[in-house]
Amino acid sequence: MNSLLSFFSRANRWPISKCQFALWAALAHTIIFNGALCTYLFTSLDIFSLSGLSIAASVFVIVWLANVLFFSIGVIVAPPLLILFLILTAVINAIALYYMFTYQVVLDKSMINNVFNTKPSEAFELLSPTLLIYGLLLGALPIASLLKFKILPATRWRVVGQLLVVSCLSSSFIYANASSWLWIDKHAKLLGGKILPWSYVGNTIRHLSAGSVTIEDQVLLPSATFLNNEKTVVVLIIGETARSHNFSLYDYSRQTNPLLEKRDLLILNKTTSCTTYTTASVACMLSSDIDTANIEPLPNYLTRIGADVIWRTNNWGEPPMAVSEYQKGADLVSKCQGDGCQFDENLLTGLAERIKSSDKDKVFVVLHTKGSHGPSYYAKYPSQFEKFTPVCRSEQLNDCTQQALINAYDNTILYTDYFINEAISRLELLTNIPSMLVYVSDHGESLGENGLYLHGTPYTFAPKYQKEIPFIIWRSNAMKARELVQNSAINQQGEFSHSNIFHTIIGAFKTNSPSYNKQLDILAL
Ligand SMILES: [Zn+2]
Repeated sequence: MNSLLSFFSRANRWPISKCQFALWAALAHTIIFNGALCTYLFTSLDIFSLSGLSIAASVFVIVWLANVLFFSIGVIVAPPLLILFLILTAVINAIALYYMFTYQVVLDKSMINNVFNTKPSEAFELLSPTLLIYGLLLGALPIASLLKFKILPATRWRVVGQLLVVSCLSSSFIYANASSWLWIDKHAKLLGGKILPWSYVGNTIRHLSAGSVTIEDQVLLPSATFLNNEKTVVVLIIGETARSHNFSLYDYSRQTNPLLEKRDLLILNKTTSCTTYTTASVACMLSSDIDTANIEPLPNYLTRIGADVIWRTNNWGEPPMAVSEYQKGADLVSKCQGDGCQFDENLLTGLAERIKSSDKDKVFVVLHTKGSHGPSYYAKYPSQFEKFTPVCRSEQLNDCTQQALINAYDNTILYTDYFINEAISRLELLTNIPSMLVYVSDHGESLGENGLYLHGTPYTFAPKYQKEIPFIIWRSNAMKARELVQNSAINQQGEFSHSNIFHTIIGAFKTNSPSYNKQLDILAL
C-alpha cells in the first residue's frame, strides 16, 4: 500500500512540459487505443506494398494530428479537464475495444443508437471475465501512467507554435500521399467507426442532438375511414434477429420449422430488412414511407381511424405508441399458464379472448418478440426446444465452435416456429372471423461468418445474413374465402422488404386511406 502511495505521491511524479504532453500523450493515445483500426487496415490493405503502407501511415497521421489538436487545446484551456477526459475515455475505450475485437462491432451512428437503446439486462448478457482483462490492461494501466505525469507550465504561444509546426508537417505528409485519399474516402464510414475515442464521442453527440422523438413530433397521415364494418383481425409478429437462412421454410437443410411446414402459408422469398438494427427496422416496417422521418406509425394510425390496436412486447425500441392497449410481456406473465411463460409465449396470454371481447370491427395486434436476440441464444427458448446440440453457452461467441453457436441459434428458430404456430392456433379459435397473421423479422444476424457476430454492421457493408429476413403470411379460411386473391396467385419469388408491411396490412383492413399504395400490398393484384 505504501509503495502504491509513493508511486502516486506528488514528489515522485514525472515532470513534462505542456508541449511535450500534447505531443506524446496524443501519440500514446493513437497507438494504445486504435488496435481495431490497425487490424482493419492490416486486413483490408496489402500492408507490405508501398501503396498499402502509405494509406495506413496517412490514416494514423490523420488520427494523431486530430489528437494533437485536441490535446493542445486541452493543455492550454484546462489541463485538469483534459486529464479527466483522458481518464473517462480510457475506461470507455477499453470496453469499446473489447466489443470491437470480440463482436467486430463498428461504433457508427446506428451502433451508438443501439447502445442507447440497450436494456440493462441485455448489457449484462454481454459481460464476461475477458472484459475485466481489457479493463485492467487498456483502462487501469494507461490511467495509472497518466496520473504519474506532472504537467509543467508553458506559455500558450509555445503550444500554439508547436501545433502549427505539427500541422504543417502532418499536412505535407498527407498531401504527399494524396494517392491514398481515394481509398480513405471510400472507407471513411468504416474507418470513422473504428477510431477511438472520436467514433463514439462524435456519434454520441449526433445521437443526443437528434433528441428523442415524442408522439407530438410524429407527422400525422391523412385521415381515413374503413370501407366496411366486417370484422377483421390482423396480427403482426415482429421477430427479433431471425435470419431467413436458418428457416427450413427458406430451404435451410435443418428442419427448424416442422410446424409451419404443415401450414398453408405465403413465404415471401428474397425479403430484406431496411436496416440492421432494431429501432430503425421497427420504425421502418410500421411506416408508410420510409423516406419520411418520424411519420405516424401504423398502430397509431389504425387507432386514430377507429381500430382496436393492442401492442404486446417483450422487446423495446418501437416508435412512441398511441394505441388502445400497450402491454409489456412482464405484465402478462402473472396470467400466463404453462412452462413457457418467461419466453415469448407470454405474449399469447388470453389473446383470443381479448380479440373476441373487442367491440371494434377492426382489431390489430402487434406482438414484438425477443426472438433470437444474441449473444445468449441458449437462453431464448424452453429446454424442450434444445434439439440441436451441443449448444454454445458462453457470451463470448468466439469461445464456442461456430457449430455450437449455430445449434443454439437454430433452437431459437425452432421455438419461433412453435410460437408462430401457437399464435395461428389462437386465431383459429376465432372460427368465422376473417383473420391474418404476418410474421417478419427486424433484421438478421451474423453467426461467425467472416469473423462477424451479432448485427448492426453499417448497411452497405453488412453481409446478407444480417439483411435477409423471413416474411410469412397466414390467412384464415374465412379471410381467404372473403378475398379475391388466393395464395397461388401471388408471386412469392419476387423481392420484398419492410416497405410492404404497412400497405399489406392497411389493404387487409379495407380503408380509403390516401397513404395506401396498392403496388406495395402483397395481397392485392
Ligand atoms: Zn433487433
